[in-house]
Amino acid sequence: MERTRTAKVWKNLKKINESTAQCLLCPKKISCKGSNTSGLDRHLQRVHNISRNQPPEESTSVTQPGTSCEPE
Ligand SMILES: [Zn+2]
Repeated sequence: MERTRTAKVWKNLKKINESTAQCLLCPKKISCKGSNTSGLDRHLQRVHNISRNQPPEESTSVTQPGTSCEPE
């Protein structure tokens, strides 16, 4: 069960060894000792604005063209 949850971060991070992961989006290496991915999650969120729950490719377009219903 844990495997599917942690798999998401490995889309943007590559594990180098037991305790270190390499970010694929920047040259930073993040410690993930004891298969603890919370640091990786935090890095993705804070540095790359990637949330665990929303995939980076799915860009939610807030601005919708052609939906201007202004009274003027
Ligand atoms: Zn990074």
